[in-house]
Amino acid sequence: MKKIYMDHTAGMPVDSRVIDAMKPYFNTTYGNPSSLHSFAQEARKGLDNAREKIAELIGAEKREEIFFTSGATESNNWAIRGLAARAKDKGKHIITTSIEHMSVINVCKHMIKKGFKVSFLPVDKYGVVDLEALKQELTNDTILVSIMYANGEIGTIEPIKEISEIVHTRNACLHVDATAAIGMVKLDVQKKGIDLLTVSSNDMYGPKGIGALYIKKGTPLEPLIFGGGQERGFRSGTENLPGIAGMGKAAELMKNELEEEKNKLIRLRDKFIKVLLETIPYSFLNGHPSKRLPNNVAVRFSFIEGESMLLNLEMAGVSASSGSACTAKTLEPSHVLRAIGLKHEEAHGSLLFTLGKQNSENDVDYVLGLMPDIVKRLRAMSPLTPKELKGSVH
Ligand code: PMP
Repeated sequence: MKKIYMDHTAGMPVDSRVIDAMKPYFNTTYGNPSSLHSFAQEARKGLDNAREKIAELIGAEKREEIFFTSGATESNNWAIRGLAARAKDKGKHIITTSIEHMSVINVCKHMIKKGFKVSFLPVDKYGVVDLEALKQELTNDTILVSIMYANGEIGTIEPIKEISEIVHTRNACLHVDATAAIGMVKLDVQKKGIDLLTVSSNDMYGPKGIGALYIKKGTPLEPLIFGGGQERGFRSGTENLPGIAGMGKAAELMKNELEEEKNKLIRLRDKFIKVLLETIPYSFLNGHPSKRLPNNVAVRFSFIEGESMLLNLEMAGVSASSGSACTAKTLEPSHVLRAIGLKHEEAHGSLLFTLGKQNSENDVDYVLGLMPDIVKRLRAMSPLTPKELKGSVH
């Protein structure tokens, strides 16, 4: 049977060129970069090279501003807890949004227990952060604003440049979680005025379990992990060299290939959304119609449940998602869909297709061919479907 993967926000295949770049670091260049011999020297070169490639991809001024971590969750934890620890004498107020990943939201909740005040900014119906609310919440006590570059669940891209201008009027720092954006849009930390940036390797066809935090020179940050003093004392623990080399290669490929890849994805995405909404009544787009990640097709269908649609798609060989993989196991509707104002039942009717490099137009056409029948069948069985809709797609 045909097997089509459309859940790239949850996990991506590793590019074979990335695997090739990782291989030597398993059994050829296996020295510990902290040692003094030639094996270590080679390993150190690999570290520096990867750091350089990531700095280039995100427009950092210096490669020394890139610190490797175990992934986006650690980078988000470090940015928020590390800055709060250093800046608490200046103030104890943090601002974030109601649509962040749980690795930001749950850290912020933890900070409340530690005596910090946290404001969760509202978003509009498209998921765009309310800039007026940001201006109102900012005080001289605000030390950090943490806002994602783009939301992987609804695709919306946030106005980071405007946000940074507002944040810096009060001398607060801006942390941006760019996990969902890194493999999809061109980032430039200097142009956008970002102080701390979270990136993850698997979101740009690199291996899982490796990520980085960009720390703009001069940003006060206490380490999260103490030990042998690796990463210039800021993030201890023997470096994951194969992972780091893989992430570096993934960043290099992304820098060279993003533009072409992006254009292809936008073409597929736009066709996918247009035909879905045209052929299925009571179907709606989640997230912003144009300020949207190139690979994101987030939609919802009235009267039926996302899970039943997923099951039907899976039986036809298509793997998609009903929302963020991290909350997919709970029956609660996603906090992101609730934050954009969807009712419980609307949120439950949501489906998320996230496209990737290996998806073709044939894949999109195949799914577009399946969806009307799946929706029609499920609506015929659903007690919520109005009579006039039962038995007919239109
Ligand atoms: N932030 C965002 C926006 C995410 O989508 C994710 C999940 N891919 C994370 C953080 C956490 O990533 P990880 O589980 O790789 O640490």
